[in-house]
Amino acid sequence: MSLHAQTAGYDPDNIFAKILRGELPCEKVYEDSHCLAFMDIMPRADGHVLVIPKAPARNIIDIDPMALAAMMAGLQKVACAVHAGMAAEGITIQQFSEQAGGQVVFHLHFHVIPRWNGIPLRPHTGAMENRDILGDYAGRIKAALAVMAG
Ligand code: AMP
Repeated sequence: MSLHAQTAGYDPDNIFAKILRGELPCEKVYEDSHCLAFMDIMPRADGHVLVIPKAPARNIIDIDPMALAAMMAGLQKVACAVHAGMAAEGITIQQFSEQAGGQVVFHLHFHVIPRWNGIPLRPHTGAMENRDILGDYAGRIKAALAVMAG
């Protein structure tokens, strides 16, 4: 059931749908049956991760509530791993819906951004990060996930 399906609809050829299908690369940190998490290529802070549902949803407005609920455990797991792996002092979660809400890619995603006291966020969709650096941060976050899994 969709609560408020007043959006322009889901485009199956959006960038994140292509990443989910393996048609475009990503620096993956986590995957389960409900969600995929990978490094943001234009990070607002070191260790910025995106968590997306596997369900084809445009944003928070049209996603099936059960699909949204199903990905939340994965989102929390990734947030904890980003916090531990990046030795962050805090975490900011952001989600933008529709152009007026700041959304650029129209497949629902949650930004998981590590924070340190006194360090402001870099601009949204600012500079592209080096692939090796993204790989290094992904490694730290995956190591934290491995520790959490025991
Ligand atoms: P928004 O839709 O406003 O939440 O922003 C989309 C986010 O996706 C931005 O933070 C971009 O840096 C990020 N992004 C865009 N393309 C890619 C990609 N191919 N891989 C990883 N992150 C991306």
